[in-house]
Amino acid sequence: MTESEQIRLIESTRRDEQQIINAANKIYGVTTLLVPVIVVLGIVITADLIDTGASTLVVICTALFSIIFSIALYALAVMSKLVAKLLGHIADAVLAQQEIRPSDATATSEEVQELTDLLIERISVEIDHAHDAICPSCELEINRHATHCPRCRAIFAEGSPWAPIPK
Ligand SMILES: [Zn+2]
Repeated sequence: MTESEQIRLIESTRRDEQQIINAANKIYGVTTLLVPVIVVLGIVITADLIDTGASTLVVICTALFSIIFSIALYALAVMSKLVAKLLGHIADAVLAQQEIRPSDATATSEEVQELTDLLIERISVEIDHAHDAICPSCELEINRHATHCPRCRAIFAEGSPWAPIPK
């Protein structure tokens, strides 16, 4: 997979992911709005049926129908959000895998070089953040390139003997 193909895949996956999340939010909004309406309607119709002397079976069926219908709608609302979240995670996993393995059998030397550069950059960032020296004032472990000590506020000027002591 070339770099442009990879970028296109990432972009389209992200776009699809956003559309799924938007759709899920819409479904959630509409259904959570409908649930109280159905509950109220169910209560009103059930009460009306009792008033007009309908048979117990009809009353129970009506009440049960509105309860089950509202529960089902609520479940749909929650499920749509969960499914969107799940699909988002799957998309992330797929993209992560793509990013980890760009240098497969078809990788060009440029892609390998790029990956190597990236690795070197990351390693040098790690080294830069390492606590590989000691503050000459308070003996706190700091980085040898640090310009000041975060604890005692000692300032290490360029070229001055007052500098972090390498461990
Ligand atoms: Zn210090």
